[in-house]
Amino acid sequence: MTESPFPPRSWSGIDDVVIVGGGLAGLFCALKLSPRPVTVLTGAPIGEGASSAWAQGGIAAAIGPGDTVESHLADTIAAGDGLVDAAMARGMIADAGERIHDLLGYGVPFDRDLKGALTLSREAAHAERRVVHVRGDMAGKAIMTALVAAVRRTDSIRVLEGFVAERLHAEGSYVSGLVARDRRGGLSDRLFLKTRAVVLCSGGVGHLYAVTTNPPEANGEGMAAAAQAGALIADAEFVQFHPTAVDIGRDPAPLATEALRGEGAIIVDRAGARFLADIHPDAELAPRDVVARAVHEAVVSGRGAFLDCRKAIGAAFAERFPTVHAACIAAGIDPAIAPIPIAPAAHYHMGGVHVDGSGRTTLSGLWAAGEVASTGAHGANRLASNSLLEAVVFAARVANDIQGLMPNHKLVRWSQSGAGEFADLSEDVSGAIAELRAAMSRHVGVVRDAAGLEAALALIGRLAAAARQPQLKNALTAARLIAAAALARAESRGGHYRSDFPEHDPAQARRSFLTLADLDRKAARKPEAAE
Ligand SMILES: Cc1cc2nc3c(=O)[nH]c(=O)nc-3n(C[C@H](O)[C@H](O)[C@H](O)COP(=O)(O)OP(=O)(O)OC[C@H]3O[C@@H](n4cnc5c(N)ncnc54)[C@H](O)[C@@H]3O)c2cc1C
Repeated sequence: MTESPFPPRSWSGIDDVVIVGGGLAGLFCALKLSPRPVTVLTGAPIGEGASSAWAQGGIAAAIGPGDTVESHLADTIAAGDGLVDAAMARGMIADAGERIHDLLGYGVPFDRDLKGALTLSREAAHAERRVVHVRGDMAGKAIMTALVAAVRRTDSIRVLEGFVAERLHAEGSYVSGLVARDRRGGLSDRLFLKTRAVVLCSGGVGHLYAVTTNPPEANGEGMAAAAQAGALIADAEFVQFHPTAVDIGRDPAPLATEALRGEGAIIVDRAGARFLADIHPDAELAPRDVVARAVHEAVVSGRGAFLDCRKAIGAAFAERFPTVHAACIAAGIDPAIAPIPIAPAAHYHMGGVHVDGSGRTTLSGLWAAGEVASTGAHGANRLASNSLLEAVVFAARVANDIQGLMPNHKLVRWSQSGAGEFADLSEDVSGAIAELRAAMSRHVGVVRDAAGLEAALALIGRLAAAARQPQLKNALTAARLIAAAALARAESRGGHYRSDFPEHDPAQARRSFLTLADLDRKAARKPEAAE
């Protein structure tokens, strides 16, 4: 007998809201919708397979004495390099205090001083101390531990772990269901859920790249599913590369938090020479994309790049940065006495499914929040610690919007499709995925040019022509969106750097929007080119 897909927990009735993803955005949205019954569908057990649990810095919130929404907004706009939607960013920043208050209510143990006030740290490109954190670099883990516990004790939330949403069922521009595969039951097992509201909270795209800080589940599958259903995708070309991933051959690469540089750690080459000061007046504290490019050049030229924390942090490393310390020690490097080898890694996607201020996508019945969404609040480059903020603010707005639109929940039927309805798709796609990831890092990475982007698109096209397995098809769709948007933006801005167009072009200082249908039309007009 097949095992029931539902965990044995008390449950009465079947809801009509399905949230895809069990990271911060998904769990926060589920809690905010409570007591309305919701289903959270997640490929990995909740709290795992989510970037949220790995966040080291914390959440930016202009709540300190003297800090203001205007100051946080100014920093966000400066980081976003001309493309921030100021109204979206202002709204996000203004909601920060209330959302931090909610998180405290769910039991998140943010650090406090002796008087009980929240302590705030300062991160690169923030004018003020405004990042709430937990025990040095443990913010993500602590936030997710508290939210997972809150979700587990909330009876209105049904969690389906091990189910990966791979396709949205759309009738015209109305999303009315989704198809998910059962990771435990083999690739031909599918679950069809009929829905009135789907909230995509499936995270980012880092794992489309060979070198990334993101978990394997961050592979763009949610964005691809939305695009295939016809949703508008915004700013897909803007991927942020973290300059200081720990380069010890681990996949994903552990992150050496920016706070280390904030504390005075320096970047040196193999000969021990600093090189950032020659490139930018702020040296190691220059904007992330500047540091990422300098580290990239040092790595590809063979000079190597290392984060030297010996003088700035030294013996206090283990206590002050326990996560980074553990990763280094596991690789045989003691960061108190040896420089840490580093490389840039795909870290955060500013682009994604285009949403409005309530998290609505361009398809009815489909909302998006967190990294999979593109609100415009980050522009071309995200300010440190603004993404967890965006996740909670927009997850709460989505919940509010759904509740307002559909105050009464409706019972719907669910059914598990039998094997055979879908082709047997158990082929091994690991070779194709590895080829894709290598091409994304090489051609759609820190430094891009037209020839490389065209080569990447040609490879994506070749792999897509042969692809049968939905997971591979989705990865290729997500990669195609990013590469095609990067080719279309013939300038450099924020996280997007074109060596053939190294400057800003004021005429292109606008957000980008595309659909898969646009790309198909373009490809049909120019059959000799990939796009
Ligand atoms: C190492 C690291 C450190 C970071 N540090 C910070 C920081 O200090 N401050 C900050 O603001 N931001 C930070 N970020 C970015 C931030 O963590 C993410 O942007 C944010 O957590 C995204 O939250 P999310 O809920 O949208 O996605 P995630 O937390 O990634 O959750 C996505 C969820 O969706 C699931 N999923 C994915 N695809 C599917 C599918 N098809 N079907 C079902 N489930 C699916 C995943 O398993 C997961 O449960 C960091 C990121 C990393 C990787």
